[in-house]
Amino acid sequence: MATNGYEGVLKMIEELTTNAGQIQDEVLREILSRNAGTEYLRGFLHGQTEKQLFKKNVPIVTYEHLKPYIDRIANGETSDILLAEPITGFFLSSGTSGGQPKMTPVTAQVTKNCELFRGFYESPVIKHFGDINQAGKRMELMFARPEIETPSGLKAASASTSIYKESKFRTILPKLYTSPIETIFCPDPNHGLYCQLLFGLIQRDEVVTIGSLFASTVLRGIKFLENHWQELCYDIKTGQLSDWITDSGCRNAASLVMKPNPEQADLIENICNCKSWEGIIRKLWPKARYIGCICTGVMRQYIAELEFYCRGLPLVSAFYACSEAICGINLEPLCKPYDVSYTFLPNMAYFEFLPVENDHDESIDMKKNDEDTELVDLVNVKAGQCYELVVTTCAGLYRYKVGDVLMVSGFYNNAPQFQFVERKNVILSVDQEKTSETDLSKAVTEAKALLDPLGFILTEYTSYVDTSSAPGHYVLFWEIKGKEGKHCKELDPKIMVECCSRMEESLHYTYKIYRKRNIIAALEIRVVKQGSFVALMDYYVSKGTSLSQYKKPSCIKSEEALKILDSRVIGKYFSPKSPL
Ligand code: AMP
Repeated sequence: MATNGYEGVLKMIEELTTNAGQIQDEVLREILSRNAGTEYLRGFLHGQTEKQLFKKNVPIVTYEHLKPYIDRIANGETSDILLAEPITGFFLSSGTSGGQPKMTPVTAQVTKNCELFRGFYESPVIKHFGDINQAGKRMELMFARPEIETPSGLKAASASTSIYKESKFRTILPKLYTSPIETIFCPDPNHGLYCQLLFGLIQRDEVVTIGSLFASTVLRGIKFLENHWQELCYDIKTGQLSDWITDSGCRNAASLVMKPNPEQADLIENICNCKSWEGIIRKLWPKARYIGCICTGVMRQYIAELEFYCRGLPLVSAFYACSEAICGINLEPLCKPYDVSYTFLPNMAYFEFLPVENDHDESIDMKKNDEDTELVDLVNVKAGQCYELVVTTCAGLYRYKVGDVLMVSGFYNNAPQFQFVERKNVILSVDQEKTSETDLSKAVTEAKALLDPLGFILTEYTSYVDTSSAPGHYVLFWEIKGKEGKHCKELDPKIMVECCSRMEESLHYTYKIYRKRNIIAALEIRVVKQGSFVALMDYYVSKGTSLSQYKKPSCIKSEEALKILDSRVIGKYFSPKSPL
């Protein structure tokens, strides 16, 4: 967006947030008047469009409820069973716990909203950091994921892949970004990443912002750079791309811009060749004004490490959105990454909120059944209260639970601002994959079956995500007991390695895809000595948990609790290969 445009957009944001209640009613009216005749809504509204009837009759649903309709459309039935506007394709979300990625319909209106949204979230950033589009280029790490063709002929792709495919994006790419399109669509993400870093380094004097969609990818880029900087410098010095990059698109793109540049290579080598990589980003890209990537939610775990590498450069989480709906923007890009709030845009969808309660174990539970709980409208949420987000969109989602829990941190004009609290029922997540307690328990059940015939029993387990090295990986703590006086030291290490493999094979599709692409590293089982889980319980009880109410956490979040288990580890085992 040009500078003269951003002030206009900020004005629009003022108007939207001031008239949030009225706009929400209009959005719902429009959705209902267009879609009341669809097979889905007819069953609840009988052709009526009143808000009160909608609130009374239309059920609050999850993806599973809408899936039969979406599957029918994907299999060739007409889309008006669910929505009136013709559909142009599907967005593939990053994954549901326990299954395949979700598919949600995309229409011309959805695409228009996505375009509008970019202006909305970029305007506050431009206001604070100047017009980056005029100042230089963005080094943004971007990776398209493979599309799926449904039997109807309609394509399903992740929201970001759909954006990379648009002709508008392809037109602005060479002027605004350092990465050529071939590196974004490169089928091997390591080849793509190497080349994107190479192009970013070659153009380092032009780079004004660095980023990716999520913090985990930026960190992955830095770690990759740590392992490959000498080779990258050699390529820059000689003007030749390394031989192991065999992707022809990447090689063509490189041949167009690479020429020997020994001075630049020496400069980069000197910077990278220092003992500490603290502040390396600033040194490598001295004109960078900020790092743009989502650092909230599950990405919080990466903030400290990113701050180490970018020393003082602001980390900007610009927006909150999902495949199902566009939700909010960060009006204070300079705010500390831990404190980011997103102001909801009332024109993007009809938003409702299901109150949830903080229980004493700091986890969030539903108060009552959804049917008994009244949903709260956007403008009526209460500061300090946590809610689960429910959306109704122009693309066939009606009272749909996104699965995110948010807390109201305040209001901007009449629009509430939310902090992201957690993904409901998700306990492990390295990147965008979501693994629930049920997913984990299923995988553990499959793996521990290997122990039983050998006379060993898995008595306790818990988990955590280890991000101390990149990419992060799942860690399982297992306490194993031998039957008939056997000691777990007698257990053949090969069996434990097999247990790691079996767990990975039993995890969901998205996990396996990410493992294959090295977005997640090998799963690890740490066997702890007898009594470790008793020590864990003692710790929680010492912190005030009632002994009678103690529930072993299925995922360890506290540093101290982690230390208790880690100090009792007697064996570490890793999955030897990717599960796909
Ligand atoms: P997807 O379904 O693949 O589009 O992923 C969307 C999910 O990513 C959301 O439902 C959130 O759980 C998470 N997400 C997206 N934006 C943010 C954000 N700004 N902060 C925290 N989590 C986010």
